[in-house]
Amino acid sequence: MYKVCKFGGSSLATAEEWKKVKDIVDHDDDLHIVVVSAIGKADKKDNKVTDLLYLIYQHHKYHVDYMPLFEQVEAKYLAIKKELQINVDIESEFEDVKERLDQDTISEDELVSRGEYFSAKLMAAYLGFDFVDSMELINFDYNGKIVEPETVECIERAVSVHDYMVVPGFYGSYPNYKICLFSRGGSDVTGSYMAKGAHADLYENFTDVSGFYMADPKIVENPRHISQISYDELRELSYMGASVLHEETILPLMDEDIPILVLNTNCPEQPGTWVKKAVQGRKHLITGISGKKGFLAITFFKERSIDKLSLMMKVLSVFRAYHVPVENIPTSIDSFCVVVEKNAIEEKYYDMIADLKQINGIAGIEEDEDIALLAVVGGNMVKKAGSLGRIMSVFGDNNINIKLIDWGLEEYNILLGVSNADFEKSIKTLYARFAHEKINNA
Ligand code: ASP
Repeated sequence: MYKVCKFGGSSLATAEEWKKVKDIVDHDDDLHIVVVSAIGKADKKDNKVTDLLYLIYQHHKYHVDYMPLFEQVEAKYLAIKKELQINVDIESEFEDVKERLDQDTISEDELVSRGEYFSAKLMAAYLGFDFVDSMELINFDYNGKIVEPETVECIERAVSVHDYMVVPGFYGSYPNYKICLFSRGGSDVTGSYMAKGAHADLYENFTDVSGFYMADPKIVENPRHISQISYDELRELSYMGASVLHEETILPLMDEDIPILVLNTNCPEQPGTWVKKAVQGRKHLITGISGKKGFLAITFFKERSIDKLSLMMKVLSVFRAYHVPVENIPTSIDSFCVVVEKNAIEEKYYDMIADLKQINGIAGIEEDEDIALLAVVGGNMVKKAGSLGRIMSVFGDNNINIKLIDWGLEEYNILLGVSNADFEKSIKTLYARFAHEKINNA
């Protein structure tokens, strides 16, 4: 068995956590590749190294003394080094970064990537593994998109040379060998590419919770644990806010059907959540519920004589030009509605509306800025007559108005729009109704 694992920032926040990581790795000879994040928060008041590094770059840019912040970063790594007696010269790495900052020869991405780099340098020495820099493994094109064939080739080569290695997460390199970051939380994605390139049997992702739960524990008390979930189900839940794994984690693993096991560093013996292509033997109608507040629905009414499809194409091209992702497009005979995340449109709003008003054939525009979206996901809803009706009845029974609904042919995901004020109530009532009901009882 060949395994890749990843430890997130909270699993690296203190020397105690590092000891747990070593214990896990020492007891499993199958763990060949260990991907690490930057040091995370030890408690609520603490700062993440990645956040500090972003802040350092801004201080430097505006000529404000960044040293107190840099000292915070240094202190975190030095405390780990000292307490665990790790023999590695991390101090000269710090000096090198400061020198390059002062000479203005380090980019923001490179500076921020040092959090993962320092973690990996220390972790490799601590575990007695080889350190392999992600610069040599993860290849991006100039648009910041992964070049998969080259990445896989580089990882295959590294695997043939290094039996056991530690790799920094979150970054790779452009063709000119400058550093490029994934989006925040991207060490999960590094782990996926490592698993893919190494043709691993399993990707174990260690974090501070024992996998996924049917609903957000901040909304529902003690929600039911999910023991297995399919790639597709998880993509839908993550897209709508379930935040345990980065939403791009799954894509690289899908073709080779490499499962992910999400585990808790603090209690690795707990079962965790399996994420795989197909899941079997589950009895619940709904696997999970996630959602987000803060959407805006813009409805476009067309003039009668105008062709709706061409008008939609013109309207959508404006959203595309402004790089505003569209979440959903419900339509009716003389109108269609475009649902977007408010944050994504905010700064561009007035310019966009001005451009949209220029389009010929629009008879009116109306907005509803009080939309929360819910994803109700469950592979067991597929081909199960009546499931949609049962889910909808929960809303009617609890006097919650549904503003929009989208249910695709795949049948495993229902997207619902409610008012922001009804968001928590919707999740709580859906959970209460479906958490423990088995499909046999349907
Ligand atoms: N350190 C990065 C972040 O905080 C990446 C990661 O932890 O996955 O976003």
